[in-house]
Amino acid sequence: MRRRLFAKRIIGWIRLPSAVLALALLAAQAGCGFFGDKGEDSDSHRAAAAQPSAARYAGEPSPAIPFVYTADRELSLTFNGLPDDQTLNRLLDELDKQGIKATFFVPGMRVAEEPDLAKLIVSRGHELENNTLNRLDMTKLSYEQIDREIRLADEVIERETGIKPRYLRTRSGDYNDDVRLAAAQEGMDAVIVYSLFLHNWKDESESEKYLYIRKYITRGGILAIDTDEFEDVVEAVTMIAKAAKDVGYRFIPLQELVQHGGERKPAEEIEGYDLAKPNTDYAHSQYKLIYNVETDKKVVALTFDDWGTDYTITKLLDILAEQQVKATFFLRVKGVEANPNLARAIVEAGHDVANHSYSHPVVTTLTPAELQADIVKAHQVLTYAIQQKPTMLFRPPTGEIDDQTARVIAAIGYPNIALYDVTSFDWDSANSASDIVESTLKQVKPGSVILLHMLDDIHTTEALPIIIERLKQQGYTFMTMADLIAMKP
Ligand SMILES: [Zn+2]
Repeated sequence: MRRRLFAKRIIGWIRLPSAVLALALLAAQAGCGFFGDKGEDSDSHRAAAAQPSAARYAGEPSPAIPFVYTADRELSLTFNGLPDDQTLNRLLDELDKQGIKATFFVPGMRVAEEPDLAKLIVSRGHELENNTLNRLDMTKLSYEQIDREIRLADEVIERETGIKPRYLRTRSGDYNDDVRLAAAQEGMDAVIVYSLFLHNWKDESESEKYLYIRKYITRGGILAIDTDEFEDVVEAVTMIAKAAKDVGYRFIPLQELVQHGGERKPAEEIEGYDLAKPNTDYAHSQYKLIYNVETDKKVVALTFDDWGTDYTITKLLDILAEQQVKATFFLRVKGVEANPNLARAIVEAGHDVANHSYSHPVVTTLTPAELQADIVKAHQVLTYAIQQKPTMLFRPPTGEIDDQTARVIAAIGYPNIALYDVTSFDWDSANSASDIVESTLKQVKPGSVILLHMLDDIHTTEALPIIIERLKQQGYTFMTMADLIAMKP
């Protein structure tokens, strides 16, 4: 095995001198053409001759993409490296079996050694992208070396397979400004990072492995595995496919995912971004603590607190869609920051999204300045994540609140403090679905605000359809909390 590999490397090296020579020639022409792009006058050609290739690219750097901005139920599976013949064939068979089209970031040098393997990936319907020539640590290279690593890999891949890579990823996925600039200089659309880089397992059980992977099945996610480093890449793909199936999301090639993605407006340009501001003048600010609404009408508001994974929250969204019920989600914004697409998905499903703080503190334990900073940060991060103004309701974590704290919160721009009159203790996983249903139905009255949670590993997704159906049978209809508050008596 080792000897065969060694033999292949020798063949690779024999192939290389002519390849490198041809590339060097191409590179020289490309350098000239590049400077020529900026103007056909003789000055720019003189400049090119004086500084052949060391000049940093003067245009916009390629964007770095750690995930794609989309609320659609799709993500991409990507690989770094080019494995040996046997592993590659097993991997391609598994991808076929799972119906996954993936994206392979291949090192130029390996493609030069084994062009047939690169061609095989393409012939099986997967994408080929640029993993640099030698997979060196880019932070230790000069700009010129970085540019060369990218350019030569592009050239080898295109020459051997006919595919011109559009994306670049370094070995580790890390990048710096020079990598982005050189990628742009070589005409690449983006530097691709990752939302999960799966490294070798330590001593996790099978179910721990599965739950870890499932957490990263996110809308617009980019999963990465290095085929050289990871011990059993085929087994990992089997588990990833199962997790995605359980969450209800599908894998699509990276180019398609990026095309489906939207541009995010900078936070400051979104209307309502500045509705929450620190304000030390809170001594006389007015607030309302809203537990429920006085009414004879049989209306209630379902509210969900905290945060969870796509697995749980997408299930809640599906139940609400099926029941045609609109609800209010009070988000723990630190979690939203790491997975903004899921927050956007809640909004796109027609629900209200509101502020449940950034770091989930007991608000009465913070100084006014700390508390205001936390809630303002939550407002800003949430606005950016959902790309619109959130519903201007604040719910204090654990429900703990007092007069002074309520004034501090109101002064920021959140005068309506959204509490609840129906608690089900669904956050406690010891409570079964029927416990949750019973305790909820016992407390509900016209105008009630029902507190539920969107945490993983609790029984709310099982209880929710029953709660909604029973309340409908009793003649109740459902509103968002903001609509309930705005209702005329
Ligand atoms: Zn909470």
